[in-house]
Amino acid sequence: MKTIYLDYHATTPVDPRVLEAMLPFYGPQFGNAASGTHRFGWEAEGAVEVARQRIALLAGAEAREIVFTSGATESNNLALKGVVGAAGAAGAHIVTLATEHQAVLDTACTLERAGCRVTTLRVRPDGLVDLEELRAAIGPETVLVSVMYANNEIGVLQPVRQIGAMCRENHVLFHCDAVQAFGKLPVSVDADNIDLMSVSAHKMYGPKGVGALYVRRRNPRVLLKAQMDGGGHEGGMRSGTLNVPGIVGFGEACAVAAEEMAQEYGRLGVLRDRLKRRLEEGLEGVHVNGGMEHRLAGNLNVSFEGVDGDALLVALPDLAVSMGSACSSHGGGGSHVLRAIGTRADLMQSATRFGLGRYTTEEEVEYAAGRVVEVVRRLREQRPV
Ligand SMILES: *Cc1c(COP(=O)(O)O)cnc(C)c1O
Repeated sequence: MKTIYLDYHATTPVDPRVLEAMLPFYGPQFGNAASGTHRFGWEAEGAVEVARQRIALLAGAEAREIVFTSGATESNNLALKGVVGAAGAAGAHIVTLATEHQAVLDTACTLERAGCRVTTLRVRPDGLVDLEELRAAIGPETVLVSVMYANNEIGVLQPVRQIGAMCRENHVLFHCDAVQAFGKLPVSVDADNIDLMSVSAHKMYGPKGVGALYVRRRNPRVLLKAQMDGGGHEGGMRSGTLNVPGIVGFGEACAVAAEEMAQEYGRLGVLRDRLKRRLEEGLEGVHVNGGMEHRLAGNLNVSFEGVDGDALLVALPDLAVSMGSACSSHGGGGSHVLRAIGTRADLMQSATRFGLGRYTTEEEVEYAAGRVVEVVRRLREQRPV
């Protein structure tokens, strides 16, 4: 039995072009990018700088504003802890959303225990921030607002440009976890008024274990306290020998995205809408979690009335989807995102996240929809509401 992969928000397969670009750096071009005295080092450094430029280009940034990390979890940690650390002041205040990724929420929690003041704003039922609530939350001690671009569970797109403008007006830095949007939507740190931005290679057809933090150098220049002591790599912001093959792959993934993302996004929107239509035609009691209006093309998150989530998962071994609480590492209580948008208790655990991506086909979507309809009908017959 073939398993259809519909979990592109969790990770993506490496694009063959990306793998191809990486291989020499696991072979003859194994140099350390920090070795400045010989050709092995220079080759590695050259490749890293090409990748840095490709990532910067896709973000509308300058190459020197890109800091390589081990992934977006580290980027989020570095952004929040780095800004608060550089601000120095006890009682610094940061603002974030209840629906952020754990890497932001847990970091904010750690900062709070260390004396930082944290405001975690709730969201509207459609999953979006209320801009007036955000404005009201910003005060004289606020140093940072951290709001994600696209949510990894329900796919909703926050009004990033307006949030950035509001931060700019108030002289507050704006950090954006753009992992789920980067390489899919046109992201521009200048147009979107972003001062710090977290991105990850493995969410956009690159390798796992490599990411970046964009750190604005001008208007304003962002000061960050490094979180790792060592050799002072990456302009002193992130020490550690660079993952050269990973970085090369990340750069290639960005180059591919720059070429193909517009067309790909359109195609995924059509497929996602088809999936939604098939489910709604085939079943009663299908609830979409999160608003549809501002939403990533490849995302659909739905709950099925009167269906047990575990039974659904067990009955669908041929579909790789994410369900209920799978997104929160902390277990208990289900998804913090679904809770934050006020999902009904009985609809929490059958919440199913379909993530479509580059290799998803029309046939796969038709098959997946058919199987879900069949299984949900059967489960409802077995266990009438
Ligand atoms: C996956 C993800 C992360 C974490 O990225 P890693 O590179 O896996 O550490 C952070 N934020 C969002 C929105 C994500 O989807």
